[in-house]
Amino acid sequence: MMIVFLGPPGAGKGTQAAKLSAKYGLPKVSTGDMLRQAVAAGSQLGQQVKAIMDAGDLVDDQTMGEVVKERLAQPDAAGGVVMDGYPRTRVQAEFFDQLLTDSGRGGVGLVLLLTVAEDLLVDRLSKRRVCLQCGANYHLEFKAPVSDDVCDCCAGGLIQRDDDKEDVVRERLRVYRELTEPLVAYYRAWGHLREIDGTDSIEDVFTRVDAAVARAAAA
Ligand code: AMP
Repeated sequence: MMIVFLGPPGAGKGTQAAKLSAKYGLPKVSTGDMLRQAVAAGSQLGQQVKAIMDAGDLVDDQTMGEVVKERLAQPDAAGGVVMDGYPRTRVQAEFFDQLLTDSGRGGVGLVLLLTVAEDLLVDRLSKRRVCLQCGANYHLEFKAPVSDDVCDCCAGGLIQRDDDKEDVVRERLRVYRELTEPLVAYYRAWGHLREIDGTDSIEDVFTRVDAAVARAAAA
């Protein structure tokens, strides 16, 4: 099944997508992680997108379409994926629908909208630390790593993303409201959107996410 996580930055999309991916053996496709890897590798794509990401703005729809098309063409994506961070604009959502239709996958099976109040989002993002090597996420209060700058999972180095600094976080939230939030109505109209309160603990939110996936799979 094609599962899409929707929601503002900091709502927990990456964390919940990783848990779902582990439970059902579906690959997690995080466009943010893919772009950060390109930046870290210094590739042409990375050089093209670095300043845009640092400013909290969105990379253009055409580039994102190429990135996603190439990723979904890989064999492990044939049986479904968990999308984290794509689509993020109306143009991307329409491109994605077309891509899924053209490749015989039918379409998006389920959209999970994670909702969290804005104050909490800013707190979560500004205290977030990420592992550049494996993508694991930490929160300095609620999910603290054993050592402040070393990943518990793979011993990689932990960093604060440049775009998790407070002024950039506010810009990312503004961009979300303007360009991504309209997708809620787009997917709601289409009928497979489930709204999930993302405020509680990671495990409690995952119980709801998992129940929504089970219902969708049984339908
Ligand atoms: P994320 O980790 O999903 O918050 O993504 C980090 C940054 O990568 C975003 O702020 C954008 O600059 C860029 N990005 C990731 N996914 C997309 C997308 N679908 N469309 C445009 N830009 C994206």
